[in-house]
Amino acid sequence: MDILIENGILIPMNIACHESTLYFKGYLGIENERISFISHDKKDADEFVALHSDCYRIDATGKIVMPGFINTHTHVAMALLRGISDDVPLMEWLEQHIWPVESKMEYRDVLVGARLGILEMLLGGTTAFVDMYPFEEAVAEAAESVGIRAVVSPCLMDFKMEHFENDWQQIIKRFSNSRLVTIMMGPHAVYTLSEQNLQRSITLSKELGTGNHIHLSETAVEVENAHKKYGMTPTEYLEKAGLFKTPTLAAHCVVMSERDIEILSRHNVSVAHNPQSNMKLGSGIAPVKRFLDAGINVSIGTDGASSNNDLDMWEEMRTASLLQKAVTGDPSVIPAYTALQMATVNGAQAIGRKGELGVLSRGALADIQLVNIEKPHLYPHTNLISELVYSTHSSDVETVIVNGTIVVENRKCLSVDEREVCLTAQRHIDNLLSK
Ligand SMILES: [Zn+2]
Repeated sequence: MDILIENGILIPMNIACHESTLYFKGYLGIENERISFISHDKKDADEFVALHSDCYRIDATGKIVMPGFINTHTHVAMALLRGISDDVPLMEWLEQHIWPVESKMEYRDVLVGARLGILEMLLGGTTAFVDMYPFEEAVAEAAESVGIRAVVSPCLMDFKMEHFENDWQQIIKRFSNSRLVTIMMGPHAVYTLSEQNLQRSITLSKELGTGNHIHLSETAVEVENAHKKYGMTPTEYLEKAGLFKTPTLAAHCVVMSERDIEILSRHNVSVAHNPQSNMKLGSGIAPVKRFLDAGINVSIGTDGASSNNDLDMWEEMRTASLLQKAVTGDPSVIPAYTALQMATVNGAQAIGRKGELGVLSRGALADIQLVNIEKPHLYPHTNLISELVYSTHSSDVETVIVNGTIVVENRKCLSVDEREVCLTAQRHIDNLLSK
């Protein structure tokens, strides 16, 4: 279906922040899965209608039209585990609470958890996410059926290697022609992988032409243990192992030395910054200002819903900005437009799709959200970028388009029965906790 969005305020996100006009009132046309024009001129809209007389027209008066968010680090199926363990540190949380339940989870549980998490993300304007989990095949299936773009990373851990080998092969078999699903390798972390299994990830990513998505230096304990075991930091170890010769997306990067930062910068490693999960698990605060100063591409992730405890990119973006101001004592750090870039264009770069995602431009894929700004908490309109980053909630998102298809309209997801998704998730977690 071809779509014309009319009279909205368009934020293309491909304009440098020093330019005076970061948004304009205008029109945007979608042909199949891509944006065919974006313009302030009504003549272009008339021309589009002449060529596509049966196009679906969306009146975006009083709405912001902007790229959907790209959540660059999550474990979407962990939406199922939301609230099962809070207020404990990472290793205790994993070893005593999360891993015991996860060990009982089967394909169907992951599918059900992923559907819940995807629904939450779509309703809040997230149109793409990067995932890592066992049974990524189920996450891919959920993404395709609900209608969100997903980069799935089958998870390599020493005690789950057989599972991994089956998972990635099934994903390639079922989803290699998918419009929505792509794959990255998911070496879990330095502390859960032998050198041999890390090499397996590197070799396979080279063979398949994919990147690697890894947890890196999330806590001080992880860094201390790497020092004890290898005599170096996790970042130095991964460089030595050759991981960074493949396109790499590193999640967290909380405890980083100057040398670590230099290594990431030199190898063009992208960072997925997860401020709320890092805060909740007491892991610390990633030195994002230093990353940005070093020219590192920093994107934003929510991490799993069981350490956040939601998948809300609006909150995450705001926290990313506010937290760096607090910790550096400098309110000019991560200004609003930079935060918006981290949640959109930088995310696209982190998954190797710069120019194609995270922007509204001719030829880009139509992953778009419409935000209703006719609300008291968004008035008066003086600076829309500031409004979006510092005042908007995910519940202000009204319409969401993924790959040229409307998946959310008037705050309702069109592809699933929302109540059914929630109740099925409830049944599955009740069952898992009773086992
Ligand atoms: Zn994670």
